[in-house]
Amino acid sequence: MHRGNLIIISGPSGAGKGTLVDRLVARVPELWESVSATTRAPRPGETEGEDYFFLTADEFARRIETGDFLEWAEVHGNRYGTLRTAVEAKMAEGRDVILEIDPQGALQVKALMPEAVLVFIVAPSMDELERRIRGRGAETDDQVRVRLATAVHELELVGNYNFVVENDDVARATDELVRIIESLA
Ligand code: ADP
Ligand code: 5GP
Repeated sequence: MHRGNLIIISGPSGAGKGTLVDRLVARVPELWESVSATTRAPRPGETEGEDYFFLTADEFARRIETGDFLEWAEVHGNRYGTLRTAVEAKMAEGRDVILEIDPQGALQVKALMPEAVLVFIVAPSMDELERRIRGRGAETDDQVRVRLATAVHELELVGNYNFVVENDDVARATDELVRIIESLA
């Protein structure tokens, strides 16, 4: 059977990755979105096993030791990782798999699987990025500052990506992502 493609979506916090991936998966039902593990606390409205698998720091460390992660990274002071087994199984079934992960993780996966397709989502400007992070209302002032500083470093890695999509308008950017997925063999 044809092995599914691995599509990685990265971009600064607040650029709109979650919003666009939800739209994309609704438009292309053959896509399967991996659920990551994290040591970050759940935000209001987030569900265990749906948004993330929420692990303690000890559980996360144990799962690193047992080799459960395809990749993992520390982002904004918490650990995040992709669970290997589910991703491998879905790709083997021929499903295209989406990972929404940070650039450190994206580069780890690209080193293991050079055929992975890397897509970087950007906001139209840093001011707009800050508006979106603040508008979401999930972070304190300090956390917003950390996320904006991280965004600057993440943007330096954009040259490693196959595609850059500007999230100016949700519908337009979703159309562009659908076209990218449809262009893959
Ligand atoms: P990320 O997953 O990249 O951190 P989110 O999807 O949570 O970002 O989006 C951050 C905030 O910006 C959310 O409040 C979302 O509704 C809003 N947003 C996303 N895309 C757009 C857009 N094109 N224009 C305006 N606001 C947007
Ligand atoms: P958030 O806390 O806003 O949900 O996510 C923060 C950052 O962690 C985002 O850049 C997101 O892409 C990244 N992230 C989420 N899951 C993973 C993962 O499994 N691995 C890596 N490397 N980064 C992740």
